[in-house]
Amino acid sequence: MIRIGLTGGIGSGKSTVAKIFETLGIPVYYADDAARKLMNADDALKQAILEHFGKDSYKEGLLDRKYIASIVFNDNEKLELLNSLIHPATIKDAEDWMEQQTAPYAIKEAALLFESGASENLDYIIGVYAPQHLRVQRVMKRDKLPVEEIMKRISRQIDEEMKMKLCNFVITNNEQELVIPQVIKLHEKFTSQNA
Ligand code: ATP
Repeated sequence: MIRIGLTGGIGSGKSTVAKIFETLGIPVYYADDAARKLMNADDALKQAILEHFGKDSYKEGLLDRKYIASIVFNDNEKLELLNSLIHPATIKDAEDWMEQQTAPYAIKEAALLFESGASENLDYIIGVYAPQHLRVQRVMKRDKLPVEEIMKRISRQIDEEMKMKLCNFVITNNEQELVIPQVIKLHEKFTSQNA
């Protein structure tokens, strides 16, 4: 089975593209959702978070997301520390999940695919590209966030143009080019490679 990574900056449209692959019958692992679950379900990860962020990081066995957010919000070192605990657990979980899939290929969708080192375990990476002004507009609309907060998040990710150069394939989601035909073209490529 071919293991595909799907990445792109905040608001690029990764989840939207992933949903199109799902409608074609392709299984998708959503790394952010999985990480959220693992922080409550993976005992070793829980223990590591408790060790580094203190006993107030969990309330009645569940991660206190507000408390953790208040710690990492303006502290990049703490955010990197949290990510360094979460990423290996998520990479392992995604690998286990990939092994169980029986489709011709499976997709791992993650914003920080390169930043986390997850790209090393994948056969091909698809990048979803959208110009920054559209990404900012989309996230403002979706998350009701101020532009400053979105720019801060963008600044923590690898530069979009550079990220796309690291990808094997790029889907352009600039609201001018049609996205579905681009997905179908890749789907045909990955299904025929496996035949
Ligand atoms: P994040 O990294 O923040 O989770 P993402 O890359 O997964 O973002 P999506 O959630 O797929 O991005 O898209 C961001 C928002 O933009 C969503 O509300 C989505 O509906 C919208 N969107 C995505 N693509 C388009 C498009 N081509 N036209 C209009 N809206 C779009």
